[in-house]
Amino acid sequence: MRQLLFDFEWFRDPTQTAFELVGAEPGRSLKLGAPAEGETLVQTRPEMTVLLPTRQLVVLRRVTMLQSYRPLDLYRNLFNQFSRVQTPEGICNFIKMFGPLTNDGRNPDVGDDIVALMAHSRQMRKLLEAYAADDKIAVAQTLGPKGLPLDNNSIGDVEARIVFEPADGAFQLQLTPKNLISALWLQLGQFLSGKERLKICFHCSELFEVGAGTTRRADSKFCSDEHRIIHNSRRRTSGAD
Ligand SMILES: [Zn+2]
Repeated sequence: MRQLLFDFEWFRDPTQTAFELVGAEPGRSLKLGAPAEGETLVQTRPEMTVLLPTRQLVVLRRVTMLQSYRPLDLYRNLFNQFSRVQTPEGICNFIKMFGPLTNDGRNPDVGDDIVALMAHSRQMRKLLEAYAADDKIAVAQTLGPKGLPLDNNSIGDVEARIVFEPADGAFQLQLTPKNLISALWLQLGQFLSGKERLKICFHCSELFEVGAGTTRRADSKFCSDEHRIIHNSRRRTSGAD
């Protein structure tokens, strides 16, 4: 199956020093002058100053060169890693490793809004846990990216194109998310709509795939033999429960 193609290039700081967690000052103003690299949104606006809404916590970028990379190609389950991040420090560390999550985060004058991003990671985690537990009611009640019911909710900014490959005469649908948070929702959506079966490890709460094409049997309760052994030996030493 090669009909669906994600084409997504993003930016991160290889030195992991460009981003830091800061409390925002109230009512900052932003001068829209020279755009940051790839920042077409800013380029399209005339030169002006806008007042930004006050934010509690942001991850700010220092003005440094970021390096382009292809997160969806490199990390197949990046949405899962993001869904495990539940603190402002955790979000900041994620950004240090994988780059800012929104275009605001790429702008050194604005920054990624931590509170909004934590809502995204919580919703992803809730959805994955409900899916892994096969709890259909909980899945149906889980909200999507913008706090609306999942099926009522667009995944964010995604551009679609039809690409023709002259070499094999095949058409492909190519999807290009506009920022990392949209890319993570897209990756999560593709995962859930695929045939893969997902479970949660009894020991470490990590999600893992089971069944054909994986190393775990369909009825596995642990992500690895190591975790099965640790879990079972703890149960023995702590008595029956
Ligand atoms: Zn585990």
